[in-house]
This record gives sequence, structure tokens and C-alpha cells, in this order.
Amino acid sequence: MIGRFAPSPTGPLHVGNLRTAVIAWLCARQQDGELLLRFEDLDRANSKSEHEVQQINELAQLGITFGPNVIRQSERFDLYRDVVEQLGQQDLVYSCYCTRREILESTQAPHGPSIEGAYAGTCRNLSARDRSEREQSGRPPAWRLRSNNEEYIVDDVVTGPTPTVIDDMVLLRNDGVPAYNLAVVVDDAEQGVTQVVRGDDLLLGTGRHLHLQKLLGYSTPQYVHVPLVVGPDGERLAKRHGAVTLEDLNQRGIDEREVLGELARSIGIDVDRPNGVSELLAGFSLDQLPRSPWTIPSDWQTVGYDN
Ligand code: GLU
Repeated sequence: MIGRFAPSPTGPLHVGNLRTAVIAWLCARQQDGELLLRFEDLDRANSKSEHEVQQINELAQLGITFGPNVIRQSERFDLYRDVVEQLGQQDLVYSCYCTRREILESTQAPHGPSIEGAYAGTCRNLSARDRSEREQSGRPPAWRLRSNNEEYIVDDVVTGPTPTVIDDMVLLRNDGVPAYNLAVVVDDAEQGVTQVVRGDDLLLGTGRHLHLQKLLGYSTPQYVHVPLVVGPDGERLAKRHGAVTLEDLNQRGIDEREVLGELARSIGIDVDRPNGVSELLAGFSLDQLPRSPWTIPSDWQTVGYDN
């Protein structure tokens, strides 16, 4: 059994990331498995090695440590590009000249739950003339995977079977950087990952991953999409909600044992001031994982936050 935690090193981890890491660690250890750390640093402008160091320290404060095999997506661009080449040889890849704005404006009426930023397929069937006009515009293309908007059922441990409709996902962005959806599938397969624990904001995009796995002959890991951590307004946790990182919490006099105790209780483990994740192992069961979002405790919240 191999799990992974895959943060983007663009800043400190927030309590939502920490909670996901705790769950991923518990799932792996409960099955005598290993949890790998992978830095998803495709965003070259905001990823920094000092954030990697900080994130490793934050995880260590909760007792989560990793072996030496930490990988960085920024060091694997050739591998991702080789996979695009392989898909291109099967005529599954096409160039796309659409701007972000055009994509937002183009309407799409999928038959099932749509995915964020779904692409309507504008450049899929361009006439030769339209294509050459776009080529001449000088705008570098992104490269997309040709699909038939297939429906996939994500068999998720938390949410149960969840239907998703896929689109023609980007494989390489127009600045040449591989897309998250490609890199995550290649890495999970290449690292032999058998279980993926992550936030449920990524649930509906997982059909894209199943599609790529099928095309590339990879096996599909077990998916555990964890309901998000939210602020008092029910919105996804953000800085404005209050103390959202270990450092913020420490500044309020809330130490890591108290934080870990709250995270533990939020996933159904009754424990007071645990000294590291290993103290949660005996009380953990994936079946107890709440199916709804978790609101941060009131003493972590911004005073007077009433939005
Ligand atoms: N890198 C993503 C994040 O930090 C996680 C993606 C994944 O676990 O597949 O939210």
C-alpha cells in the first residue's frame, strides 16, 4: 500500500492541508503502508524551496515524517512531455489557441455534473483555414487531449460512486508547462501509488484522471476525497477566516498538540493533546470520516467575522 501527500510549495500549509496529511498518514500506516511526499511545484513563479522546508517542518511538528524519496514535478518535465508525445502518436492530442476568457465565455451543456473550467472543445475540429489563421497569430498553443466527453464514475471511498463528465483537458499549457492533471496521473502511476487522499474540491476532476489512466494503461488507485475545511461562512478556508496555519495558531497560544487534537476530533477520534499522529492510530477508522465539511473551531476564527 502506497499513499502520497502532494502539496504545492507556494506558502505555509493551512489547516485543511494539514488535516488531509493527517488522514493520508493514518490511512497508510493503518494498512502498514508508506506515505510519500511529492512537491507539486509546476507553478514555477510561486513555488519556493523555502516553502518546501517550511512545509516539511510543519508536518514534522505533527509527527509526520517522510523517507528520502521526495520528488518534485519541476524535475520531471521530460517525463510528462514524453507521455504527451506518446498520446500524440495515437492522434489524441491537438493544439488549442483559446484564451482563458474565450474558454469562460464559450458555453457548454454537459449531460452530467460539469467540472470547473470545462472546455467546450472549440479548437478540436477547426477547419484547416481557421487553424492556419490561428497558427499565424503568433500565440503559442496549449495542447489538449481529444475526448468524446465520456462519463466516468469515480468510485470514491467517502462520497461513493460519483459520476463525472470529462472534457478535453490541457496536457501542456501554452507556456510549455505540463498541466496538473497530466503530472498527477503520471506521478501516481510511476510512484506505484495505490491510494490517493486529497481534498474533495478535486473530486469532479478525477474523471479526467481515470480517462488518462485508461489511455496510458495505468491502474487506478483508490480515491479518498476528504470534505473541505471551511470558515464560519461555509466558504473554503481562507486567511480572512482567522488563524489558518500552524504559525498563526502558535501566535494565538494554540500549540501543535492542541491543533492536532482538534484535527483528530474533526475526523472522529476522541483524544486530548496528542503528542504526534501515531497517538491517533488506534482510534482511526476511515468509516468514521465525516461526509460534510468541517468548520474551524471558534477560537481559531477572526474575532467578529460575520460575513
Ligand atoms: N497539489 C494539490 C494541492 O496542493 C494536491 C493535488 C492532489 O493531491 O492530487 O492542492
